[in-house]
Amino acid sequence: MIAPLSLQQLQQRFGGELLNGSIEFSAVCTDTRKLDNEALFVALRGENFDAHDFLGQLEGKVRGVVTEQPIEGSELPQWVVADTTIALGQIGLLCREQFDGPVIGITGSCGKTTVKEMLSAIFGQRHKVCVTQGNLNNHFGVPMTLFSLEPEHQVMIVEMGASGPDEIGYLCSIAKPQITAVNNVMPAHVEGFGSIDGIATAKGQIYTSLQNGGVAVVNADDNYADYWRGRMPEGVRTLEVGFGHQWAVHPDNIVLNALGCPAFDLVIEGVSHPVKLQLLGEHNVHNALVAAGCAYAAGIPVAEIAEGLSLAGSVGGRMQSFRGKSGAAVIDDSYNANPGSVSAAIELLAQRDGKKILVLGDMAELGPDADKSHREMGRLALERGIDQLFTLGPLSAAASIEFASGHQHNPRNFSEREALIQALVPELDEGTTVLVKGSRSARMELVVQALTDGN
Ligand code: ATP
Ligand code: UDP
Ligand code: MG
Repeated sequence: MIAPLSLQQLQQRFGGELLNGSIEFSAVCTDTRKLDNEALFVALRGENFDAHDFLGQLEGKVRGVVTEQPIEGSELPQWVVADTTIALGQIGLLCREQFDGPVIGITGSCGKTTVKEMLSAIFGQRHKVCVTQGNLNNHFGVPMTLFSLEPEHQVMIVEMGASGPDEIGYLCSIAKPQITAVNNVMPAHVEGFGSIDGIATAKGQIYTSLQNGGVAVVNADDNYADYWRGRMPEGVRTLEVGFGHQWAVHPDNIVLNALGCPAFDLVIEGVSHPVKLQLLGEHNVHNALVAAGCAYAAGIPVAEIAEGLSLAGSVGGRMQSFRGKSGAAVIDDSYNANPGSVSAAIELLAQRDGKKILVLGDMAELGPDADKSHREMGRLALERGIDQLFTLGPLSAAASIEFASGHQHNPRNFSEREALIQALVPELDEGTTVLVKGSRSARMELVVQALTDGN
């Protein structure tokens, strides 16, 4: 936190009831297993626990408590509220209001963490950056990011995720970003939104929440670009990024090195500087353009942006390249999967020399489109010349069937991870690239582990 806050401040601004007087606090904690005696404890309910059940243990160990039920017989100062999750956001908002520097907000279906890390690399060259840790991008994670603001910070980068219609609007109401981007819209988490149009509207709240003077970084290549342009609030400037030369931020002369890492000239409003990404895949050129647009809107010169992008390293489980068994190249993209990111992975794999094997676990949360989407991925793998497809789980069987019908062999779909690994390992040799991908729930990192163990 930049400066201490008090319970009284919170109660006066947001209502609720104060018990046992006010206190000042300079940190927030939500887990009784990791207490801090300078902190305010906020009792949250999760899938496994209700932290209200542990409040009796807190006497003398924290400064005060935010709770939905007064703690019986306790002398701890308490702010009693109707909803502690909302209270967490309200504390986050007060932390945000202590910060004067630029705040950048990133949402989108995939690539948010990658863009966030790119921005962190760009700004980190010359600035103290407050940035979302890991993937803490929801109504718990965004307040945590706001609590982590410290006096030395000069810029804040906030990843915002959504699995339902009004979440981005809510996150913007507490983080108040002035420079925002929707990285892309793809069918991810469709179940929570109803349709892909629903996703575009929900993510567009990152633009409609902007205040006068804000900058909207728009992915001009996205199908919804026009839809968003038509909905910008007054006084918001739009900065267009895309692959075409007509856009303010665009790439020129893209080449992929032997590993599949792109190099290109970054062009912003006519000024050009070379970038050499350390990240695999052409989709990272797009991510780089969005990061570049946001950094440029915050006043960073093109050369500094280009140099920062070239420093950005890969994030665990996102297209990381390893040497695997029998000398095969193993690309770990096991962090998550939806049709957009699987397509990007197939494109990357298609460009490799030698034998190309895709190992795909189920893509989750696709709602009624699940079967069709999996079939499309099998078809795309076939069309792009992937040599073998191994799939794990009931949904991805559809991909295997589609792929195998083109190759006229039996589908290689497995219900057990071990059986898949046993069938896969004999296929590996020095000339082979294996790309492993699947939704979080498919735990495909265990396949990567098995393929790289001992190497
Ligand atoms: P989450 O919603 O889980 O927070 P995210 O939006 O933060 O995801 P990343 O973690 O950066 O996204 O990447 C997730 C997956 O999407 C990885 O497999 C990555 O390779 C792929 N990916 C990243 N950027 C793009 C892109 N622009 N287009 C397609 N796929 C992408
Ligand atoms: N919690 C706690 N003490 C415990 C177990 C849980 O304070 O011994 C808190 C935890 O930090 C979280 C809340 O209770 O804020 C709900 O926990 P759960 O594990 O259900 O939720 P998650 O953190 O997985 O969302
Ligand atoms: Mg993320």
